[in-house]
Amino acid sequence: MGDRRREVSLGRGEELAGLARRVVALGIVVGAPVIAGTWIRDAPHDVWVRWGYPPLGAVLLLFAWILLRRPAWSVAAALTLLLGLDAGWIAVALGRIASAPDAVTAWALLQPTPLLGVVVCLVVGFLFMRTRAALVLGSAYGILFTALIAGAMWRRGGEAADVWLAIRYGVYLGVILVLLFVLSRAKEHVASAVADAARADATAVRMREMAYRDELTGIANRRRLLEELGFQSELVSPTHPVCVVFFDLDHFKDVNDTHGHDLGDQVLRVVAEVAGHIVRENDLLARIGGEEFVLVAPGTDHSRAVQLAERLRQSLPRAMEQAVGVRITASFGVTSMRPNESPASVLRRVDELMYQAKAEGRDRVTSADPGAA
Ligand code: GH3
Ligand code: MG
Ligand code: MG
Repeated sequence: MGDRRREVSLGRGEELAGLARRVVALGIVVGAPVIAGTWIRDAPHDVWVRWGYPPLGAVLLLFAWILLRRPAWSVAAALTLLLGLDAGWIAVALGRIASAPDAVTAWALLQPTPLLGVVVCLVVGFLFMRTRAALVLGSAYGILFTALIAGAMWRRGGEAADVWLAIRYGVYLGVILVLLFVLSRAKEHVASAVADAARADATAVRMREMAYRDELTGIANRRRLLEELGFQSELVSPTHPVCVVFFDLDHFKDVNDTHGHDLGDQVLRVVAEVAGHIVRENDLLARIGGEEFVLVAPGTDHSRAVQLAERLRQSLPRAMEQAVGVRITASFGVTSMRPNESPASVLRRVDELMYQAKAEGRDRVTSADPGAA
């Protein structure tokens, strides 16, 4: 049920619908004692109140329960109730007019409940339907209700003044409809503006994600790496060492040439996965070129960074053999950042260390700690 509730409250437009639901539910809960009080007071001498109010109260309480506990049903329930109430007020109004001894009493008997009830129906229509549909249905109902009570008043007393009272009430309904229309349009505009803003937010987040992500492996890209290095260089201190590990797959071109480019891509994804398991949460792993990866490890000192690179060097060939059936090694360079060192400078140094590892026979870690020099 919790999921169902979340489902219908998705999006800001839906939040407005949720607000409408709660307002109507509150109105019903407050209105229920009024209905009960009126029934106690008027049931003995008013047949409509005696037999009409108990089912009306029960239906409204059921509706309140649906609005609060079963939001997914609320629109269908509101429209069903609306049509029932629309028909109910017509029946009550015509019955009261017919049962009154004269036109003045008949008109007095319509006030306030049936006349007010019609207005409540119009409001509920605008809360639960699209503006245009609520306007069409509300206008049709207002005209029908006015015409029926005007006709009944005419048959009752034949006084033009009583018919005029009914028509004047119809005009009031028209004014209320126009006001509801304007408010509802405003509500729709606000809801769509809010939904547009939420969509724009989501798009901006997605674009940002895309701008910083390597498409093939899903890890960070060069842009993100440079940003992180720039950020970390300002934090480097003796108590906050930042190490950088650069690694490049050995003879990767041969892998592509022998097993195909698709398997080469698969290898790159597995590298990202294996390295992702080894790094810590605060480390940043990026792919910055074809088969070149960089790991930034804030708060990791040089010897721990060398151990980390060594662990990765040993686990990669095994993991790769398991995943794609090809043995692949990598060569590593490890260094630590100097305080306020530029990203380009630290990358140049660690790249040179990696090339040294290549030159010394590949599948090894070469490191230099400029802080220790
Ligand atoms: P070394 O040990 O000296 O690094 O040899 P290597 O073959 O790995 O080095 P080289 O730089 O000559 O080759 C890198 C290859 O990586 C060349 C290119 O075909 C391949 N490559 C680059 N980007 C991608 C990619 O996105 N997918 C695949 N499958 N291959 C790529
Ligand atoms: Mg290579
Ligand atoms: Mg390379």
